[in-house]
Amino acid sequence: MWGGRQASPPREVWIDVFKNCTGAIVTLGDIIDRSLINEADKLFIISTYSVGVDHIDVKAATEKGGIYVTHTPEVLVEAVADLAMGLLIALARKIVLGDKLIREGGIYDKWGGWLLGSEVHGATLGIIGLGNIGTALARRAKAFDMKVIYWSRTRKPHIEFALGIEYRPLESVLTESDFVVITVAATPETRHLINEERLRLMKKTAYLINVARGDIVDTNALVKALKEGWIAGAALDVYEEEPLPSTHELTKFDNVVLTPPHIGSATYETRERMAEVAVRNLINVLMGKRPLYLANPEVLSIRPLQALI
Ligand code: NAP
Repeated sequence: MWGGRQASPPREVWIDVFKNCTGAIVTLGDIIDRSLINEADKLFIISTYSVGVDHIDVKAATEKGGIYVTHTPEVLVEAVADLAMGLLIALARKIVLGDKLIREGGIYDKWGGWLLGSEVHGATLGIIGLGNIGTALARRAKAFDMKVIYWSRTRKPHIEFALGIEYRPLESVLTESDFVVITVAATPETRHLINEERLRLMKKTAYLINVARGDIVDTNALVKALKEGWIAGAALDVYEEEPLPSTHELTKFDNVVLTPPHIGSATYETRERMAEVAVRNLINVLMGKRPLYLANPEVLSIRPLQALI
């Protein structure tokens, strides 16, 4: 394993690792594609230090004699839900803009001292993708007295009942919500799920928050929506282009909050738990034991577990 999204090692290093190692720990910035996997004659396991596996060609790994691909879900859920709630409140109450105006001294000239925001309690939160993070966010929103509606590929009546939230078709989530938070997984089916047509459905007073993956939102359409005032603002923890250039159009809007990519899981406690799970997954597979989280369970029948250490 090398570093974060911006610090992936050169390709030659990965080729060397994939040719000569039995196991590899990778992270989001490491693009593990089919050509790299084809080099992996000795590799038994790719353990990623992330919940998402969209940076790995999992199908290619499975087809390469059954290379195990493991990941670290669950342990980062609460931290990402905290960040989503933080971004929601920051947008609603213009916290980041207020901080900027105080530091630059523009609060009285530009805003007459008034920086009015929107209320969070009583507002409607629309969650797109009710997985672990979406559910943890719904719990938080209920504690803030929000109405919560959601769209997910699979309807979850037990969670609706337990949390008092309501299912809607995707289009209705977009038209009814004051805050739309994206927590769906990135897959070929969810790429540009939020496109121009769907952004136009949102209320002019509504905010979009993406803590899932950058390419779920069509960035060009989002920039257009912000320029033309189809929505009130946005907050992003993930981008189609990472790292986002400081000159990017998104950086020009006062009603947009931008965080360094993927700080959703970036707490000391969560990152430590993720590291423990990534290493435990690797050790388990090498010891012939089932890993904690396997992204391609079909490998169990292709290459049954056997102790290698
Ligand atoms: P999860 O529990 O596995 O939930 C995944 C969600 O994606 C579920 O709602 C699932 O729908 C939906 N989904 C999966 N495949 C789909 C498809 N083909 N079409 C439509 N929906 C699909 O994952 P999670 O822990 O909540 O994490 C959600 C995402 O957040 C991750 O995949 C990752 O990209 C992102 N994430 C971001 C950060 C960050 O730092 N910002 C950190 C961790 C994760 P159903 O359950 O309804 O079938």
